Amino acid sequence: MNCPYCGNLESRVIDSRDVDDGVRRRRQCSGCSARFTTYERLQAASLFVIKKDKRREEFSREKLMSGIRKACEKRPLPTGAIDKLVDDIEAELYQMGKSEIPGAVIGDMVMKGLRDLDHIAYIRFASVYREFADITALKQELDTLIGDEAAKASQPVSQLPLLPVEPSLAMAGGQRRRRK
Ligand SMILES: [Zn+2]
Repeated sequence: MNCPYCGNLESRVIDSRDVDDGVRRRRQCSGCSARFTTYERLQAASLFVIKKDKRREEFSREKLMSGIRKACEKRPLPTGAIDKLVDDIEAELYQMGKSEIPGAVIGDMVMKGLRDLDHIAYIRFASVYREFADITALKQELDTLIGDEAAKASQPVSQLPLLPVEPSLAMAGGQRRRRK
């Protein structure tokens, strides 16, 4: 580790603390006494993606990120949402403990993540990833999405009236009784 100020190779660790996914070390150069910080991160074992044509390609976080970013372009997403999705997918992939993973598995993870995040981004990604052959395939995907939305929306509605109705009736009855 060369000192960023004088290039000296020797440095002394003056402070060391655990951070999220590694160790942060405060160092002091033995040559010029300048202080600088280094981060040590665990290098995950190499992970290869099996492409459609059976070729293997090393997993690239940047590539995953750029694909998701493209789908999310100009969508009103909360800050950090894309990074979190990429982090989650990456963590899940490494947790599988495999050295090779079919690209389709990663694609499905992205689809699932985007589906929860933003439906427009989801459809954009799906149209590229699933390679919708025609407008009918796209419509089917949209119908599924709309069906799920409707199912989600109808749940609270059917449960809502049960709760407020009874107390208000009881109150009305109580008032009527008091007036008599
Ligand atoms: Zn130095």
